[in-house]
Amino acid sequence: MSELFKVMFDPGHGGSEPGAVNKYTREADINLIVAKAAKNYIEQRSTDFKVELTRYQDTTMDRQTRCAISNSFGSDLFMSIHHNAGGGDGFEVYHYTGSEQGAKLANLLAEEFTALDQNKRFVGSGLYAGTKPGNYDVLALTDAPAVLGEFGFMDTKDYTQFDEEEELIKIGHGYGRAAMRFFNYKISDEQKPTILPTISERLLALETAILEVSESQKVINDLLNNKTINDIVTALRTIK
Ligand SMILES: [Zn+2]
Repeated sequence: MSELFKVMFDPGHGGSEPGAVNKYTREADINLIVAKAAKNYIEQRSTDFKVELTRYQDTTMDRQTRCAISNSFGSDLFMSIHHNAGGGDGFEVYHYTGSEQGAKLANLLAEEFTALDQNKRFVGSGLYAGTKPGNYDVLALTDAPAVLGEFGFMDTKDYTQFDEEEELIKIGHGYGRAAMRFFNYKISDEQKPTILPTISERLLALETAILEVSESQKVINDLLNNKTINDIVTALRTIK
């Protein structure tokens, strides 16, 4: 396959803009962990993708710059990674109003979040009413189909679902999977079945192990009763 799919992950906030904060962490930091995990997920599974992040460090960056980076990269896909605050439960995923491709990507990401046992709070256009802003800049100013994900709330009990690095990495994998699925890309390890040994296979392995141990024990016993170096060397040689 010669075509490269270009994906841009955008870890929200950074530098002097921490985003949401709780007493344990800053949103900017966890967004970056998730973004890096998303990039790794894809790169470990395919060479048909070119994946970049808008920032790799804790740097301050305005939204226009993020969009400019994505547009000059020629992204086929843009995903902005955020975590919520202000009280609530569940994930929110936004796409640009009227964008069919954006809606498709938003639904794929929502499926990944649901698979991580997070409740669905909102999936839809950036013109979601209420206290939310209108179309987000990162959705409006990017050329590629774009989404903005808020996995959960940092200031409610929601936070227990992403307060460990392992959980953040799984969220990142969700972003990565959504991106690959957007292009109908077959994820190589997706359907690899885990074949567990049967009970009889496990019993057989156990029996073999016990026999090996008892055989070694016999040699050691002999060894302890032997007196000459030669006997010991001979005995040792019988141990496989
Ligand atoms: Zn944010």
